[in-house]
Amino acid sequence: MKTTKRKRILVAGGAGFLGSHLSDRLLQEGYEVLCVDNFQTGTRDNILHLLDHPSFELLRHDVCLPLHVEVDEIYNFACPASPIHYQADPIQTTKTSVLGALNLLGLAKRLKCKIFQASTSEVYGDPHVHPQREEYWGNVNPVGYRSCYDEGKRCAETLFFDYHRVHHIPIKVARIFNTYGPRMHPNDGRVVSNFIVQALNNQPLTLYGNGSQTRSFCYVDDLIEVILRFMNTPPNITGPINIGNPTEYSVLDLAREVLRLTGSSSPIIFQPLPSDDPKQRRPDISKARLLFHWEPKVPLEQGLQSTIAYFSKSEVESRQC
Ligand code: NAD
Ligand code: UDP
Repeated sequence: MKTTKRKRILVAGGAGFLGSHLSDRLLQEGYEVLCVDNFQTGTRDNILHLLDHPSFELLRHDVCLPLHVEVDEIYNFACPASPIHYQADPIQTTKTSVLGALNLLGLAKRLKCKIFQASTSEVYGDPHVHPQREEYWGNVNPVGYRSCYDEGKRCAETLFFDYHRVHHIPIKVARIFNTYGPRMHPNDGRVVSNFIVQALNNQPLTLYGNGSQTRSFCYVDDLIEVILRFMNTPPNITGPINIGNPTEYSVLDLAREVLRLTGSSSPIIFQPLPSDDPKQRRPDISKARLLFHWEPKVPLEQGLQSTIAYFSKSEVESRQC
């Protein structure tokens, strides 16, 4: 009798916000998941519900060090994503992006397996082209506070394409735009989690600058769906491809929407804009639409409601502990 082996998938950064949702989906689809994480920003809570799953395995490991495992596919999500966290130890952030990419690409080369890179809209920096298309090379400050992340991710993209050209590794590089949802770290300083946690605690919402800067917010389920579709495309589809929700909001509008949906009477307070904070950001997702027949489905209101419900439950549970 012929038995088909289930694919074993390595998710680096699997205990983080996006990595844990990806692990959920992969297990639902019948894959085995090897989650590799050093818990710099991820938590066991994010994967607690998976620890007893027979197809889930957890390995505490820093991707800056080489990794010897046997897997069929690799997803690289290992890297702190919030400005507060990636700027807390900027040298480590560059190391994670660059050495992490090198080590995982080396593993992909030995195993001759496909590898996905969670790149970022930050490769466009503070863009002069709007909306951002993949052909745009960006406007990135190489020596600022955000550079450890932006340049680290740019160098990782370079490594992915050089491994593809030189060693013929099948690669999938996605430039992810601001994504939100349950399991974001409540203290990681990103705007959606900050505003929701502040509104739920009746604290002032901290608006940086005058709030006219824009972002486009993608709900996590939409993002995981398109990542899986991308991973299952033929080898000639390498990216880089923008993925995210193209509906653009000012940060002030986001603050007002969070206040409306939480029913909070928190005031909005204005604080200085961090340096190199991009003024506007919206993905051109024409390529993703065409290649993956994909469209984000979850409107901001619905996604915020799910995220607010998650943070409300977390607040209640932490008070009970
Ligand atoms: P996150 O901080 O929740 O997850 C990152 C995970 O990587 C954490 O579990 C962390 O502990 C782990 N990690 C960090 N350094 C590591 C190392 N050296 N070795 C092993 N594990 C390490 O962030 P996230 O929002 O889930 O982002 C995941 C990935 O997606 C990141 O690479 C990020 O750059 C990318 N991304 C995210 C967004 C977004 O809006 N969430 C946007 C663009 C790109
Ligand atoms: N921001 C804000 N208040 C906060 C956190 C963030 O006004 O409490 C702003 C931030 O300056 C930026 C936008 O919201 O203009 C998105 O910030 P985030 O850190 O979520 O993501 P990124 O800047 O990396 O897109």
